[in-house]
Amino acid sequence: MTLALNGSGIGHGIAIGYAHLAPHGEAGASQRRLGRDDIHFEIRRYLDAVETAVAQLHTIRTSIPAHIPADVVAFIDTYLLMLNDDAFKTGPVNHIRKGCNAEWALQIEQQSLESAFQEMQDPYLKTRIDDVNHVVARIQRILSLSDTRDDQPRLRSEQTVIIADDLSPADLLQFLQEQVAGIVLQGSTPASHTAILARSLGIPAVIGVTNALLLREGELLVLDARCHTLLAGLPESAVDWYRRQQREESSRDQAIRKHSRRPSVTLDGEPVTLRANIELPQDLTLARDLRAAGVGLFRTEFLYLAGAAPDEERQVQEYSQALQCMGRQPVTIRTLDIGADKQRPDTAISALGLRAIRLSLKEPALFKVQLRAILRAAVHGRARILLPMISTVTEILQVKRLLRECAVELAAAGLPHRSRLPLGAMVETPAAALTIAQLAPHVDFFSIGTNDLIQYSLAVDRTESSVDYLYDDCHPAILGLLQQIIRSSGKSAIPIAMCGEMAGDPFFTRFLLALGLREFSLHPHNLAEIKHIVRESRLSQLRRGLGAILRADTSLQARSAIRRLNQI
Ligand code: PEP
Ligand code: MG
Repeated sequence: MTLALNGSGIGHGIAIGYAHLAPHGEAGASQRRLGRDDIHFEIRRYLDAVETAVAQLHTIRTSIPAHIPADVVAFIDTYLLMLNDDAFKTGPVNHIRKGCNAEWALQIEQQSLESAFQEMQDPYLKTRIDDVNHVVARIQRILSLSDTRDDQPRLRSEQTVIIADDLSPADLLQFLQEQVAGIVLQGSTPASHTAILARSLGIPAVIGVTNALLLREGELLVLDARCHTLLAGLPESAVDWYRRQQREESSRDQAIRKHSRRPSVTLDGEPVTLRANIELPQDLTLARDLRAAGVGLFRTEFLYLAGAAPDEERQVQEYSQALQCMGRQPVTIRTLDIGADKQRPDTAISALGLRAIRLSLKEPALFKVQLRAILRAAVHGRARILLPMISTVTEILQVKRLLRECAVELAAAGLPHRSRLPLGAMVETPAAALTIAQLAPHVDFFSIGTNDLIQYSLAVDRTESSVDYLYDDCHPAILGLLQQIIRSSGKSAIPIAMCGEMAGDPFFTRFLLALGLREFSLHPHNLAEIKHIVRESRLSQLRRGLGAILRADTSLQARSAIRRLNQI
């Protein structure tokens, strides 16, 4: 019988492999009273396990590939610091002296650390209990093995799909030394460091999969990250179909990549600008290698999602690196867009709440740290500032005032900076979409965020699975609104780009070209494919297909009309 489990897909692609259930720490937390004679031995057993954990982490630390983000690597250093802390030695040893076995002693210590963390005022520090739990799980795992010298994952020689409740970044890096095709986590969130790490390593993953731990060790699984699905018990013919898909995807990727050096122009000679969306700094190299015409959306949330807000120097460093990497090409840095689908561990901001620009303007001191950092980094290249979730002209004017204040402060402090940068507004609220003409005099460019524009226009929470059938990018309201936005910006003579997912979806490329869009910003993985479509399109032909799409009454009709346009 085929079993399909859903979660959140991370990264692209399909993974096919045999299930390997990663051991989890609690398994070893047995409770046993010790006799007086056993105490000395048990203390030694515990301290040996801590030493083994330290040795394992050192090994992982030295074998980390160079491209792994520094903040993920820093987690391993944090674990090492913890293991060297007295709390992990004296506490459990004292409990062992009172007659508890090592596993039990460690569990008691974990519980008391958990209550201490619960009482902390700082919401960020509170969440760091996860690190404690990851370290405890590692020691418990070592204790539970009769031979403490070996805690290496025992994987089959074939491709494996790792299944776990949660994995620490260190566990994931440790597994990587084996043949890991994909990752399935029962817990965790798309914003967790393990998810971020999986994404940047290009390992397909599905996370937040309820009941994943009920899968059987060794059964053949198909993980389809694009469809957020994990399939078990598929008939051989279906697995073969997925294998073919995998092969086709990889050969299509190779073929399309060949086009990446060619110019991005249509058959009738119209240039189309293709820029990259950057979610993590490591996407920059890919963007540059694939000849992106700069960065159309640099999401800065990665700096904030892990916890405490980064200071000005750290941000100057990140933005400067991005600008230096892209050389003479523009880098569009979007100010903090926290909330809704991008939550910090300590907050829960709703989609219609105090998110994005609203939050920044509410906390000007925090916002100015980011603005100052962008102005300072701007001396290294062509920086542009993009404001998320704009719904009024006043918000833009407020930002401009803060920018002026920042420039004055930087000049007074004698710090090199640029005082005037191109300023753009995301068009992702219906309010912005309907007031392009009013916003236009105050900005240098627009960028359409279809992800949010769809959610707000159709009143469908983009993170709510019960209504995801209504989240419809072909809804006539969306297609008509896009036409209106592109037309209005054209009339106002303000350049407009699109950086929502639609810009990277090959299904919509021709439709958007026909509407007059000439600047797309998309994940670097999709650059080559979109360029391929641009190079095979003739604008004069495309415009003829537009009427049928915009006249459609239903999304189904619109979809078929777009399909016809794609076949021209
Ligand atoms: C969008 O809303 O389309 C967009 C690009 O922003 P994000 O997905 O980061 O909200
Ligand atoms: Mg958005």
